[in-house]
Amino acid sequence: MQPKFIIVTGGVLSGLGKGTAAASIGRLFLNGNKIMPIKCDGYLNVDPGTMNPLEHGEVFVLDDGGEVDMDFGHYERFLDVDCKSSWSITSGKIFNRVISNERKGKYLGKTIQIFPHVIDEIKEWIFELVDQEQPDIVLIEIGGTVGDIENRWFVEAVRQLKKIVGKHNTAYVHLTYIPFLDSVGELKTKPAQRDIALLHEVGITPDVVICRGKDPLTKKIKEKLALFGNIDPSNIISGHDVDTIYDLPIIYYREGLADTLSHKLRLAHQVELTKWQQLTQNIKRPSRKVTIALCGKYTDLQDSYASVIEALHHAGAHNGVGVQLKWIETTDIETGALSVQQALDGVHGILVPGGFGGRGIEGKIALVKAAREQRVPYLGICYGLQLAVVEFCRNVCGLQGAHTTEIDPSTVYPVIDLLPEQRGHVIKGATMRLGAYEAVLEEPSQVKSLYDTPIAKERHRHRYEVNPVYHDVLREHGMVLSGMSKNGRLVECIELKGHPYFIASQAHNELTSRLEKPNPLFFGFIKAASEEESLKGK
Ligand code: GLN
Repeated sequence: MQPKFIIVTGGVLSGLGKGTAAASIGRLFLNGNKIMPIKCDGYLNVDPGTMNPLEHGEVFVLDDGGEVDMDFGHYERFLDVDCKSSWSITSGKIFNRVISNERKGKYLGKTIQIFPHVIDEIKEWIFELVDQEQPDIVLIEIGGTVGDIENRWFVEAVRQLKKIVGKHNTAYVHLTYIPFLDSVGELKTKPAQRDIALLHEVGITPDVVICRGKDPLTKKIKEKLALFGNIDPSNIISGHDVDTIYDLPIIYYREGLADTLSHKLRLAHQVELTKWQQLTQNIKRPSRKVTIALCGKYTDLQDSYASVIEALHHAGAHNGVGVQLKWIETTDIETGALSVQQALDGVHGILVPGGFGGRGIEGKIALVKAAREQRVPYLGICYGLQLAVVEFCRNVCGLQGAHTTEIDPSTVYPVIDLLPEQRGHVIKGATMRLGAYEAVLEEPSQVKSLYDTPIAKERHRHRYEVNPVYHDVLREHGMVLSGMSKNGRLVECIELKGHPYFIASQAHNELTSRLEKPNPLFFGFIKAASEEESLKGK
């Protein structure tokens, strides 16, 4: 069956939230349709795995181990779909393929050029995915802004798509920006007009324009922009600022976006947002709030913890509580600028997320110790598990100086270490455990009751592991290794008996959390934090 293509481009400036916009458009069509999101990114890295999170935001990891742009997180959270790494198309991947094809003689003596070879390769890639996945709707987001030199081939490829699959199977949605100019007290459409003109120049007439901006668009502004952009005013959608990103599908729906696109694509469709709307209300207007201390080192850049933050909100929505974050820069604990007790003041749960390197980790360990001793709900993610093991070994098992060899390679007690079977690979550099792995859950355990399945499957992105030499020492001192790999070598989850909630996971559980399906360990954590809140409130 011929799928429908919805193509999302952006203009004026980056950071307008094109990923959430694309995911929200998809969400409107989820009912009864299989949606395949594809993201095209202009950079020459094959994937963002090697990029600094401060520059690029969080690296999202898929079931198949693909390291992809954080927009895939939005797609999965909104569309409840397990994406594949081949759905992420970068210039790096395309150029790699073109050059290797050239070496293999695919082009029979031709001069290899951007037009047509690179563009053809992009289209081929997309149609291969369509053949494999047989989606009803293909949602293609083009990274960056129209006019960027590095996205030019992607924009041209999606322009050509309409010629191939027909006008009733293609819809172009463009996200633009309408600034409010304080000095004149007006919304200004000129940047958007220029932006739409640029889109016309490259041969695309948008079917829908979504206007980002602080406030809802007025009828007058819609009409003005419609006139300049040669679009029907009803196809200009207000994409104003919202309290939570989960409001976007609702706003787009009210603005008539689903109807416009259904009509354009000849798609009989019923939007279903009842449960979604209820959960969104819980996030926006909770009757109670819990405060979670998020302890890290990139605390100045929320994008590096995007999925953790979303997972907390999902868990809050399902527990009927709002989640408020208290950012703890753990280097401040080390320098004494912030005491542990100050950090915990007003806090109902402590979360140590994933991380790399030594900066701030003694501060994290001090917070883990406080969580354990003062019975504050604790959730450790990846590094947060490793540091909980280090703390427990040092302070409960009596292994003074225990450490992870990532930080102290010559520690006497290497309780977190590279496994001997990994060492050979270190030299080759391919050392990360990436993607989904299964954990066999201990019965009885808190983790087992939260998952309510014998096996949990979560995604990983790390090098180090709990050293198997210490498994028994940990057990003997009362730590429950509540999730283990099938062969018993890898610790996947730990917990402490008798503690209201002290659970950590070697995986990144935040990556599988979705608004309509929160991750069990996040759900349990917020439940425990909300119980802590009611206790403290009394
Ligand atoms: N630095 C640790 C490791 O490489 C943890 C990584 C993480 O938290 N993602 O194993």
